[in-house]
Amino acid sequence: MNFSITSTDPNSSARTGTLKTDHSQIDTPVFMPIGTSGAVKTLLPQELYDVNTAIILGNTYHLFLRPGHDLIHRTGGLHKFMNWGKSILTDSGGFQVYSLAKLNKISDEGVKFQSHLDGSSHFITPEISMEIQLSLGADIIMAFDVCPPGEATKETVISAVDQTTKWIKRCKDYLDSSEVPYDWNQTLFPIIQGGIYPELRKNSVEEMVPYSTCGIGIGGLAVGEDKMAMFENIAMLDELLPEDQPRYLMGVGRPTDLVRAVQNGMDMFDCVLPTRNGRNGQLFTSQGVINIQNSRYLDDFSCVDKECNCHLCNDYTKAYLRHLFNINEMLGLRLASMHNITYYMLLMETIRKKINEGEFSKWSVNYLNKYSNDQRM
Ligand SMILES: [Zn+2]
Repeated sequence: MNFSITSTDPNSSARTGTLKTDHSQIDTPVFMPIGTSGAVKTLLPQELYDVNTAIILGNTYHLFLRPGHDLIHRTGGLHKFMNWGKSILTDSGGFQVYSLAKLNKISDEGVKFQSHLDGSSHFITPEISMEIQLSLGADIIMAFDVCPPGEATKETVISAVDQTTKWIKRCKDYLDSSEVPYDWNQTLFPIIQGGIYPELRKNSVEEMVPYSTCGIGIGGLAVGEDKMAMFENIAMLDELLPEDQPRYLMGVGRPTDLVRAVQNGMDMFDCVLPTRNGRNGQLFTSQGVINIQNSRYLDDFSCVDKECNCHLCNDYTKAYLRHLFNINEMLGLRLASMHNITYYMLLMETIRKKINEGEFSKWSVNYLNKYSNDQRM
Protein backbone atom coordinates (compact mmCIF):
# COMPACT_ATOMS: atom_id res chain seq x y z
CA MET A 1 0.00 0.00 0.00
CA ASN A 2 1.26 3.50 -0.69
CA PHE A 3 0.10 7.09 -0.45
CA SER A 4 1.15 10.10 -2.46
CA ILE A 5 0.01 13.71 -2.29
CA THR A 6 -1.31 15.13 -5.56
CA SER A 7 -1.88 18.78 -4.68
CA THR A 8 -2.17 21.07 -1.68
CA ASP A 9 -4.34 24.12 -1.08
CA PRO A 10 -2.26 27.29 -0.62
CA ASN A 11 -4.64 28.80 1.98
CA SER A 12 -5.46 25.83 4.21
CA SER A 13 -4.17 22.36 5.06
CA ALA A 14 -6.43 20.71 2.49
CA ARG A 15 -4.72 18.28 0.14
CA THR A 16 -5.58 15.67 -2.44
CA GLY A 17 -3.79 12.38 -2.72
CA THR A 18 -3.89 8.81 -3.91
CA LEU A 19 -3.91 5.79 -1.65
CA LYS A 20 -3.25 2.54 -3.47
CA THR A 21 -4.20 -0.83 -2.03
CA ASP A 22 -4.12 -4.18 -3.82
CA HIS A 23 -7.86 -3.77 -4.48
CA SER A 24 -8.28 -0.17 -5.63
CA GLN A 25 -6.91 3.28 -6.12
CA ILE A 26 -8.49 5.61 -3.56
CA ASP A 27 -8.53 9.31 -4.34
CA THR A 28 -8.44 11.34 -1.14
CA PRO A 29 -10.10 13.11 0.61
CA VAL A 30 -12.41 10.08 0.60
CA PHE A 31 -15.67 9.10 2.25
CA MET A 32 -16.15 5.41 3.10
CA PRO A 33 -19.76 4.17 3.20
CA ILE A 34 -20.43 1.75 6.04
CA GLY A 35 -21.03 -1.88 5.16
CA THR A 36 -21.83 -2.91 8.71
CA SER A 37 -22.35 -6.66 8.43
CA GLY A 38 -21.22 -7.31 4.89
CA ALA A 39 -23.66 -4.99 3.12
CA VAL A 40 -24.01 -1.25 2.66
CA LYS A 41 -27.64 -1.44 3.69
CA THR A 42 -30.06 -1.72 0.72
CA LEU A 43 -27.35 -1.06 -1.93
CA LEU A 44 -25.61 -3.32 -4.46
CA PRO A 45 -21.84 -3.09 -5.00
CA GLN A 46 -22.50 -1.96 -8.58
CA GLU A 47 -24.60 0.95 -7.30
CA LEU A 48 -21.65 2.00 -5.13
CA TYR A 49 -19.18 1.66 -8.01
CA ASP A 50 -21.49 3.86 -10.11
CA VAL A 51 -20.84 6.77 -7.74
CA ASN A 52 -17.08 6.03 -7.61
CA THR A 53 -16.91 4.34 -4.22
CA ALA A 54 -13.35 3.02 -3.89
CA ILE A 55 -13.47 1.76 -0.30
CA ILE A 56 -16.08 0.72 2.25
CA LEU A 57 -15.92 0.00 5.95
CA GLY A 58 -16.83 -3.31 7.60
CA ASN A 59 -17.64 -3.64 11.32
CA THR A 60 -15.54 -6.29 13.05
CA TYR A 61 -17.90 -6.51 16.04
CA HIS A 62 -20.96 -7.28 13.90
CA LEU A 63 -19.14 -9.68 11.56
CA PHE A 64 -17.55 -11.49 14.51
CA LEU A 65 -20.99 -12.12 16.04
CA ARG A 66 -22.70 -12.93 12.74
CA PRO A 67 -21.76 -14.87 10.62
CA GLY A 68 -18.32 -15.19 12.30
CA HIS A 69 -14.91 -14.56 10.75
CA ASP A 70 -14.14 -18.28 10.33
CA LEU A 71 -17.04 -18.72 7.97
CA ILE A 72 -16.05 -15.60 6.00
CA HIS A 73 -12.46 -16.86 5.83
CA ARG A 74 -13.69 -20.19 4.45
CA THR A 75 -15.55 -18.38 1.64
CA GLY A 76 -12.35 -16.59 0.63
CA GLY A 77 -12.66 -13.39 2.66
CA LEU A 78 -15.11 -10.54 3.01
CA HIS A 79 -14.49 -9.13 -0.49
CA LYS A 80 -15.58 -12.40 -2.06
CA PHE A 81 -18.34 -13.12 0.47
CA MET A 82 -20.12 -9.84 -0.27
CA ASN A 83 -18.98 -9.56 -3.90
CA TRP A 84 -17.07 -6.32 -3.30
CA GLY A 85 -14.09 -5.88 -5.62
CA LYS A 86 -12.58 -2.69 -4.19
CA SER A 87 -10.93 -1.89 -0.87
CA ILE A 88 -12.23 -2.66 2.59
CA LEU A 89 -11.25 -1.10 5.91
CA THR A 90 -12.40 -2.89 9.06
CA ASP A 91 -12.68 -1.22 12.45
CA SER A 92 -11.23 -3.03 15.45
CA GLY A 93 -14.54 -3.93 17.06
CA GLY A 94 -13.70 -1.74 20.03
CA PHE A 95 -16.10 1.11 19.33
CA GLN A 96 -19.16 -1.17 19.13
CA VAL A 97 -18.07 -3.12 22.19
CA TYR A 98 -18.04 0.13 24.14
CA SER A 99 -21.19 1.63 22.61
CA LEU A 100 -23.46 -1.31 21.77
CA ALA A 101 -22.60 -4.35 23.84
CA LYS A 102 -23.03 -4.70 27.58
CA LEU A 103 -19.49 -4.03 28.70
CA ASN A 104 -18.31 -6.15 31.58
CA LYS A 105 -14.70 -5.19 32.02
CA ILE A 106 -11.67 -3.64 30.38
CA SER A 107 -8.44 -5.18 31.66
CA ASP A 108 -4.83 -5.11 30.49
CA GLU A 109 -5.53 -8.39 28.75
CA GLY A 110 -8.59 -7.28 26.74
CA VAL A 111 -12.30 -6.50 26.86
CA LYS A 112 -15.02 -8.75 28.20
CA PHE A 113 -18.53 -8.03 26.94
CA GLN A 114 -21.96 -9.46 26.30
CA SER A 115 -23.42 -9.49 22.80
CA HIS A 116 -26.26 -6.98 22.21
CA LEU A 117 -27.99 -9.75 20.21
CA ASP A 118 -28.34 -12.62 22.66
CA GLY A 119 -26.38 -11.68 25.77
CA SER A 120 -23.68 -14.28 25.08
CA SER A 121 -20.28 -13.57 26.69
CA HIS A 122 -17.18 -12.81 24.62
CA PHE A 123 -13.63 -11.69 25.20
CA ILE A 124 -11.67 -9.66 22.65
CA THR A 125 -7.98 -8.94 23.03
CA PRO A 126 -5.75 -6.95 20.67
CA GLU A 127 -4.56 -10.30 19.27
CA ILE A 128 -8.10 -11.57 18.68
CA SER A 129 -9.11 -8.31 16.99
CA MET A 130 -6.11 -8.69 14.63
CA GLU A 131 -6.94 -12.34 13.99
CA ILE A 132 -10.55 -11.47 13.10
CA GLN A 133 -9.52 -8.62 10.79
CA LEU A 134 -6.85 -10.76 9.09
CA SER A 135 -9.46 -13.50 8.49
CA LEU A 136 -11.93 -10.98 7.09
CA GLY A 137 -9.21 -9.90 4.66
CA ALA A 138 -9.42 -6.13 5.18
CA ASP A 139 -6.97 -4.03 3.17
CA ILE A 140 -6.75 -1.68 6.15
CA ILE A 141 -6.83 -3.09 9.67
CA MET A 142 -7.53 -0.76 12.59
CA ALA A 143 -5.68 -1.12 15.88
CA PHE A 144 -7.63 -2.31 18.92
CA ASP A 145 -8.15 0.76 21.10
CA VAL A 146 -10.15 2.07 24.03
CA CYS A 147 -12.57 4.78 22.94
CA PRO A 148 -14.24 6.60 25.85
CA PRO A 149 -17.44 8.64 25.31
CA GLY A 150 -17.32 12.43 24.94
CA GLU A 151 -18.51 13.03 28.51
CA ALA A 152 -15.79 10.78 30.04
CA THR A 153 -13.68 12.21 32.88
CA LYS A 154 -10.08 13.13 32.25
CA GLU A 155 -8.97 10.12 34.33
CA THR A 156 -10.92 7.80 32.05
CA VAL A 157 -9.37 9.39 28.96
CA ILE A 158 -5.87 9.08 30.48
CA SER A 159 -6.35 5.39 31.11
CA ALA A 160 -7.81 4.94 27.60
CA VAL A 161 -4.67 6.49 26.10
CA ASP A 162 -2.44 4.29 28.30
CA GLN A 163 -4.30 1.12 27.39
CA THR A 164 -4.36 1.98 23.67
CA THR A 165 -0.60 2.60 23.83
CA LYS A 166 0.04 -0.79 25.47
CA TRP A 167 -2.17 -2.55 22.95
CA ILE A 168 -0.67 -1.12 19.74
CA LYS A 169 2.54 -3.07 20.30
CA ARG A 170 0.58 -6.28 20.81
CA CYS A 171 -1.40 -5.58 17.60
CA LYS A 172 1.82 -5.12 15.63
CA ASP A 173 3.56 -8.13 17.19
CA TYR A 174 0.59 -10.34 16.35
CA LEU A 175 0.49 -9.18 12.72
CA ASP A 176 4.30 -9.53 12.36
CA SER A 177 4.21 -13.10 13.60
CA SER A 178 1.12 -14.19 11.63
CA GLU A 179 0.96 -15.74 8.22
CA VAL A 180 -0.78 -13.55 5.66
CA PRO A 181 -4.02 -15.43 4.89
CA TYR A 182 -4.65 -13.96 1.42
CA ASP A 183 -2.62 -12.88 -1.58
CA TRP A 184 -3.02 -9.16 -0.88
CA ASN A 185 -1.47 -6.83 1.67
CA GLN A 186 -3.23 -5.88 4.89
CA THR A 187 -1.97 -2.69 6.53
CA LEU A 188 -2.34 -1.64 10.18
CA PHE A 189 -3.49 1.88 11.08
CA PRO A 190 -2.79 2.86 14.72
CA ILE A 191 -5.39 5.08 16.43
CA ILE A 192 -4.75 8.30 18.32
CA GLN A 193 -6.90 8.79 21.42
CA GLY A 194 -6.87 11.57 24.02
CA GLY A 195 -10.37 13.08 23.96
CA ILE A 196 -10.34 16.86 23.85
CA TYR A 197 -7.16 17.19 25.94
CA PRO A 198 -4.28 18.64 23.89
CA GLU A 199 -1.53 17.18 26.08
CA LEU A 200 -3.07 13.69 25.95
CA ARG A 201 -3.44 13.93 22.18
CA LYS A 202 0.22 14.99 21.85
CA ASN A 203 1.29 12.11 24.00
CA SER A 204 -0.82 9.66 21.96
CA VAL A 205 0.63 11.00 18.68
CA GLU A 206 4.18 10.39 19.96
CA GLU A 207 3.31 6.83 20.96
CA MET A 208 1.39 5.93 17.80
CA VAL A 209 3.34 7.50 14.94
CA PRO A 210 6.19 4.93 15.19
CA TYR A 211 3.59 2.25 14.38
CA SER A 212 2.05 3.99 11.37
CA THR A 213 3.51 2.95 8.04
CA CYS A 214 0.87 4.21 5.63
CA GLY A 215 -1.91 5.88 7.58
CA ILE A 216 -3.17 6.75 11.02
CA GLY A 217 -6.61 6.90 12.64
CA ILE A 218 -7.93 9.64 14.89
CA GLY A 219 -10.45 8.17 17.30
CA GLY A 220 -12.47 9.51 20.21
CA LEU A 221 -13.89 12.54 18.38
CA ALA A 222 -17.52 13.13 17.36
CA VAL A 223 -18.53 11.05 20.38
CA GLY A 224 -20.62 13.75 22.05
CA GLU A 225 -18.00 16.38 22.90
CA ASP A 226 -18.33 20.09 22.10
CA LYS A 227 -17.88 20.71 18.37
CA MET A 228 -15.55 23.67 18.80
CA ALA A 229 -13.26 21.57 20.98
CA MET A 230 -13.35 18.84 18.35
CA PHE A 231 -12.12 21.18 15.62
CA GLU A 232 -9.45 22.73 17.87
CA ASN A 233 -8.14 19.20 18.39
CA ILE A 234 -8.23 18.42 14.70
CA ALA A 235 -6.29 21.62 13.89
CA MET A 236 -3.67 20.69 16.48
CA LEU A 237 -3.35 17.14 15.15
CA ASP A 238 -2.87 18.55 11.65
CA GLU A 239 0.30 20.22 12.94
CA LEU A 240 1.57 17.13 14.74
CA LEU A 241 0.90 14.30 12.29
CA PRO A 242 3.27 13.24 9.51
CA GLU A 243 2.23 14.95 6.29
CA ASP A 244 3.05 12.05 4.02
CA GLN A 245 0.44 9.65 5.43
CA PRO A 246 -3.36 9.73 5.16
CA ARG A 247 -5.20 10.86 8.30
CA TYR A 248 -8.44 8.99 8.95
CA LEU A 249 -10.87 10.97 11.12
CA MET A 250 -13.07 8.20 12.46
CA GLY A 251 -16.86 8.55 12.62
CA VAL A 252 -17.09 12.14 11.30
CA GLY A 253 -19.69 13.19 10.11
CA ARG A 254 -22.01 15.74 8.69
CA PRO A 255 -21.27 17.27 5.27
CA THR A 256 -20.09 20.59 6.79
CA ASP A 257 -17.88 18.66 9.26
CA LEU A 258 -16.20 16.91 6.33
CA VAL A 259 -15.48 20.23 4.62
CA ARG A 260 -14.03 21.75 7.81
CA ALA A 261 -11.98 18.64 8.52
CA VAL A 262 -10.56 18.70 4.99
CA GLN A 263 -9.57 22.35 5.59
CA ASN A 264 -7.62 20.97 8.55
CA GLY A 265 -5.70 18.35 6.59
CA MET A 266 -7.89 15.27 7.13
CA ASP A 267 -8.09 12.69 4.32
CA MET A 268 -10.41 9.79 5.17
CA PHE A 269 -13.90 9.68 6.68
CA ASP A 270 -16.72 7.29 7.54
CA CYS A 271 -20.12 7.88 9.06
CA VAL A 272 -23.49 6.13 9.32
CA LEU A 273 -25.39 9.37 8.60
CA PRO A 274 -26.04 9.05 4.85
CA THR A 275 -27.36 5.50 5.08
CA ARG A 276 -28.98 5.53 8.54
CA ASN A 277 -30.61 8.95 8.11
CA GLY A 278 -31.65 8.01 4.59
CA ARG A 279 -33.59 5.08 6.01
CA ASN A 280 -35.31 7.54 8.35
CA GLY A 281 -36.36 9.74 5.45
CA GLN A 282 -33.73 12.43 6.00
CA LEU A 283 -32.12 13.54 2.73
CA PHE A 284 -28.99 15.61 2.21
CA THR A 285 -29.53 18.01 -0.70
CA SER A 286 -27.99 21.09 -2.27
CA GLN A 287 -30.79 23.03 -0.51
CA GLY A 288 -30.00 21.56 2.92
CA VAL A 289 -31.51 18.61 4.76
CA ILE A 290 -35.13 17.71 4.08
CA ASN A 291 -37.32 15.19 5.87
CA ILE A 292 -39.38 13.50 3.20
CA GLN A 293 -42.01 12.35 5.71
CA ASN A 294 -43.05 15.96 6.28
CA SER A 295 -46.67 16.57 5.17
CA ARG A 296 -45.56 19.48 2.98
CA TYR A 297 -44.28 16.96 0.42
CA LEU A 298 -47.64 15.20 0.11
CA ASP A 299 -48.34 16.70 -3.31
CA ASP A 300 -44.88 18.06 -4.16
CA PHE A 301 -44.19 16.76 -7.65
CA SER A 302 -40.68 18.21 -7.95
CA CYS A 303 -37.56 16.06 -7.64
CA VAL A 304 -35.60 15.85 -4.37
CA ASP A 305 -32.50 17.66 -5.65
CA LYS A 306 -32.11 19.33 -9.04
CA GLU A 307 -28.33 19.16 -8.71
CA CYS A 308 -28.28 15.39 -8.18
CA ASN A 309 -28.15 12.74 -10.87
CA CYS A 310 -29.16 9.67 -8.88
CA HIS A 311 -32.08 7.37 -9.76
CA LEU A 312 -34.30 9.05 -7.19
CA CYS A 313 -33.68 12.58 -8.42
CA ASN A 314 -33.77 11.67 -12.11
CA ASP A 315 -36.94 9.61 -12.16
CA TYR A 316 -39.14 10.23 -9.12
CA THR A 317 -40.96 13.01 -7.25
CA LYS A 318 -40.87 13.97 -3.59
CA ALA A 319 -44.56 13.01 -3.36
CA TYR A 320 -43.77 9.49 -4.58
CA LEU A 321 -40.87 9.02 -2.14
CA ARG A 322 -43.01 10.32 0.71
CA HIS A 323 -45.70 7.82 -0.29
CA LEU A 324 -43.14 4.96 -0.24
CA PHE A 325 -42.05 5.92 3.29
CA ASN A 326 -45.66 6.26 4.33
CA ILE A 327 -46.45 2.66 3.37
CA ASN A 328 -43.08 1.31 4.63
CA GLU A 329 -42.08 0.22 1.15
CA MET A 330 -38.47 -0.97 0.92
CA LEU A 331 -37.96 0.83 -2.39
CA GLY A 332 -38.19 4.09 -0.43
CA LEU A 333 -35.29 3.08 1.82
CA ARG A 334 -33.25 2.06 -1.21
CA LEU A 335 -33.86 5.26 -3.14
CA ALA A 336 -33.15 7.46 -0.11
CA SER A 337 -29.93 5.56 0.73
CA MET A 338 -28.80 5.75 -2.88
CA HIS A 339 -29.45 9.48 -2.99
CA ASN A 340 -27.60 10.22 0.26
CA ILE A 341 -24.57 8.15 -0.72
CA THR A 342 -24.57 9.95 -4.08
CA TYR A 343 -24.67 13.29 -2.24
CA TYR A 344 -21.65 12.37 -0.08
CA MET A 345 -19.65 10.95 -2.98
CA LEU A 346 -20.35 14.00 -5.14
CA LEU A 347 -19.37 16.27 -2.25
CA MET A 348 -16.00 14.50 -1.94
CA GLU A 349 -15.50 14.64 -5.70
CA THR A 350 -16.18 18.39 -5.65
CA ILE A 351 -13.77 18.87 -2.72
CA ARG A 352 -10.98 17.05 -4.61
CA LYS A 353 -11.67 18.99 -7.80
CA LYS A 354 -11.63 22.34 -6.01
CA ILE A 355 -8.35 21.52 -4.24
CA ASN A 356 -6.75 20.39 -7.50
CA GLU A 357 -7.91 23.57 -9.24
CA GLY A 358 -6.70 25.83 -6.40
CA GLU A 359 -10.30 26.95 -5.71
CA PHE A 360 -10.91 25.12 -2.45
CA SER A 361 -10.62 28.03 0.00
CA LYS A 362 -13.21 30.16 -1.76
CA TRP A 363 -15.50 27.23 -2.43
CA SER A 364 -15.34 25.87 1.14
CA VAL A 365 -16.13 29.25 2.73
CA ASN A 366 -19.19 29.58 0.47
CA TYR A 367 -20.29 26.01 1.24
CA LEU A 368 -20.00 26.50 5.01
CA ASN A 369 -21.81 29.88 4.85
CA LYS A 370 -24.65 28.42 2.84
CA TYR A 371 -25.44 25.82 5.52
CA SER A 372 -24.41 27.78 8.62
CA ASN A 373 -28.02 27.82 9.92
CA ASP A 374 -28.71 24.15 9.26
CA GLN A 375 -27.39 22.05 12.17
CA ARG A 376 -28.27 18.85 10.32
CA MET A 377 -25.84 19.67 7.48
ZN1 LIG B 1 -30.33 12.21 -5.80
